[in-house]
Amino acid sequence: MKSALFACAAALLVSSAAFAQPSPGPQPYPMPPKTDAPQDTAYPGLLKVQVDATDLERHIFRVHETIPVARSGPMTILYPQWLPGNHGPSGPLKTVGGIAFHAGGKQIPWMRDPVDVFAFHIDVPAGATSVDVDFDLLSAVAGDEGRIVMTPEMMSLQWISLAMYPAGHYTRRIEIEPSVRFPEGWTPFSALESAGVEGGVTRYKPVTFETLADSPMIAGRYARRIELDPGASVPVGLDVIADRPELLDATAPQIEIHRQLVQQAYKLYGSHHYNHYDFLFSLSDRMGGSGLEHHRSSEDGTVPDYFTAWNKNAAARDLLAHEYTHSWNGKFRRPADLWTPNFNVPMRGSLLWVYEGQTQYWGFVLSGRSGLLSKQEALDALAATAATYAYRVGREWRSVEDTTNDPIIASRRPQPWMSFQRSEDYYSEGQLVWLDADTLIREKSGGKRSLDDFAKGFFGVENGSWTPVTYTFDDVVAALNKVEPYDWAKFLNERINQVAPKPPLDGLARGGWKLIYTDTPTDYFKSAEARRKQTDLTYSIGLMISREADITGVQWDGPAFKAGLTIGGKILAVNGIAYDVDRLKDTIAEARKGRDPIMLLVKKGDHFSTVAIDYHGGLRYPRLERIEGTPDLLSAIYAPKK
Ligand SMILES: [Zn+2]
Repeated sequence: MKSALFACAAALLVSSAAFAQPSPGPQPYPMPPKTDAPQDTAYPGLLKVQVDATDLERHIFRVHETIPVARSGPMTILYPQWLPGNHGPSGPLKTVGGIAFHAGGKQIPWMRDPVDVFAFHIDVPAGATSVDVDFDLLSAVAGDEGRIVMTPEMMSLQWISLAMYPAGHYTRRIEIEPSVRFPEGWTPFSALESAGVEGGVTRYKPVTFETLADSPMIAGRYARRIELDPGASVPVGLDVIADRPELLDATAPQIEIHRQLVQQAYKLYGSHHYNHYDFLFSLSDRMGGSGLEHHRSSEDGTVPDYFTAWNKNAAARDLLAHEYTHSWNGKFRRPADLWTPNFNVPMRGSLLWVYEGQTQYWGFVLSGRSGLLSKQEALDALAATAATYAYRVGREWRSVEDTTNDPIIASRRPQPWMSFQRSEDYYSEGQLVWLDADTLIREKSGGKRSLDDFAKGFFGVENGSWTPVTYTFDDVVAALNKVEPYDWAKFLNERINQVAPKPPLDGLARGGWKLIYTDTPTDYFKSAEARRKQTDLTYSIGLMISREADITGVQWDGPAFKAGLTIGGKILAVNGIAYDVDRLKDTIAEARKGRDPIMLLVKKGDHFSTVAIDYHGGLRYPRLERIEGTPDLLSAIYAPKK
């Protein structure tokens, strides 16, 4: 060390004066041009956006947009980054290609902001009165690229990814007129109001950019509209598109159930927050599924045989009730930190356990009350959720509130240890906490009040308005206290904001039911397995297995985990005989009688191994069982409201 220092000092002696001073080290590099922060001021002029949505072969949407400009000089155009309902920065920027800006017929150069890659800087030439923006949305052509949104029979057109907007203004202060060219003969649906068809292009009445972004469309070759509130001054429609015409055949009783959903929602909330509402309902196994809420519509994409194989699709039947509830909870009443003035200001999700958690709760309750789920199906669905969270060991290190960051952290990408890492648990663990609250209010008020009163008080204000009303944690606590005085801040902090290792099952017990495990799955559980194309052995050997015998889930610290299994392995044999799902189930049942482990031959990459699962508990599937002699609050909760 010493000799090195000496050598160094000697070198300094002979160096030039420029090296005599120690280097100050790197300095901050100049920042890129500034993007104007959004102001609550009107953008001058009317933007126009036209989409050509006829390229069904290549799945390309071609966008032409005109943005009026009042002055020359630097200008920033934004592509929406933070998508409402996604709760994260998931704007599909990677699908945007062929970007070009023109003014006065001449192309003008653009520069993408090197820090905020969703912002485009241009220099508006003197004398220009508008800027034209052209780009192509190169939507997925193969499933691994993202959601398929175009098929030969249908499409999903999301305006939020098909238009840019000028920086510097709240999006509710930017007016825009949309139009679309759809394939010939197709029927489009949306919450937008048509202004007529000209030369094959459907024009819509001008709306704010905020409303346009919240008004996606579906269109299909095979389509029908079912009125869900016939004769009402505020129409509600079930706009159905399907892969094949016969899939549109809803029976009269099925239609009546969907009409009951609307009536039960009105009885619960005592209000509506739209002037018309459209369920944009796509039945397909070719277009990607969806569930995305909006003020006056929802995107609801589910199984093709929703109507035609009603009995096997119980696990798909809470979708509409969930997304519809969001018109009240999420779109109208919105967490104060989640609301943003435009789509490029980061959203914060600290109250998503209200936004999504209580929507999960009401989604299932309204499904039960309307008949979308039978009472048994509703109870079986609740059992499945309760079991998931009884086994969600990540609760020991991570609060529900912390999982509200997951849309940003994980973006729903696959993860190796769901039960330990957790996921967007504010949805369904939130649901269980709201059941806890509901049963507590019912118990403390002697059955006089319930969470229904909270729903009416909190979501039922300003009937008819769809201007968001924001709220904070304290507002939620105050509204609960209005229904039933209690230390709700402590209640919610303990269950949501703090790490809470105990499974949130108090609501079940107070509701008069307990979670048990038996060796046969409920029909609802089977429906959920079929929907996910998985065999769910979480509660026995701790594995989820695909139909192709791939291991797709391993319960943290469960029997398979202890045997060293992970996602990515493929099961080839069970106790020396070729794998078959029924053989595995029979083997698990048999192992109950003996002490021999269950032997699996597993292939992972080009490695083969035999693992021993030391498990003797038999097959286990969750269901609810009545606690005799206690009040049956769950049945009261799921009963239709008079
Ligand atoms: Zn939701």
